Amino acid sequence: MTRASHRGVLAAWLREVGVEYLLRPTRVPVPGPGGETLEEIRAELAGCRGCPLCAGRSTIVFGVGNPRARLMFVGEGPGVDEDRQGEPFVGAAGKRLNQWIGRIGLRREDVYIANIVKCRPPDNRVPFPDEAKACLPYLMRQIRAIRPEAICTLGGTALSHLLGIEERITRVRGKWQELGGIPVLPTYHPAYILRNAGREPEVFEDFDILARRLSPRPPG
Ligand code: SF4
Repeated sequence: MTRASHRGVLAAWLREVGVEYLLRPTRVPVPGPGGETLEEIRAELAGCRGCPLCAGRSTIVFGVGNPRARLMFVGEGPGVDEDRQGEPFVGAAGKRLNQWIGRIGLRREDVYIANIVKCRPPDNRVPFPDEAKACLPYLMRQIRAIRPEAICTLGGTALSHLLGIEERITRVRGKWQELGGIPVLPTYHPAYILRNAGREPEVFEDFDILARRLSPRPPG
């Protein structure tokens, strides 16, 4: 099959399954079902002083990845490396997360990664409830713009702020929850797994559950 005819088959398949927007160039910001693009949200957030965390940040860590991601990850907040580089999950925990993503046949560029708060809490403490409350509307808008097929929360803090679930992560992990019609699967934070390697097989189970939930990838 020539490259042109292969593209034609792929285009027909994407139309058939109702995702023809994937044919558009990805660099063009396409409005999501929420009616706004990630770039519009990012622009609005520039220089945000919505909570006290703005005082200690080097940069706002907005989020990274595919604006049409089928799978989205939500962590807690930027650490020192993320604050410096402006990208979530870039340190050792980020490397571990990338490995988990790779286990289910995806790349970091295929998914979208964001945090509950976009500025680094001092001394890597967990975000205070009022900080999370101030920042959460931006995350919700990101979720609406991306409209992923599934969300995976990483750690108890993301779970409690995104879904209001205060149960221990050990009890809730691997059990589907829901946010505005989007299935949400909690699992452990990779930083926790770096300190508790014996729990990593549970994360593998959770990622298998995630993989089963995602729609099949287009052929080719
Ligand atoms: S954490 Fe969120 S709400 Fe607070 S200053 Fe940063 S971007 Fe604004």
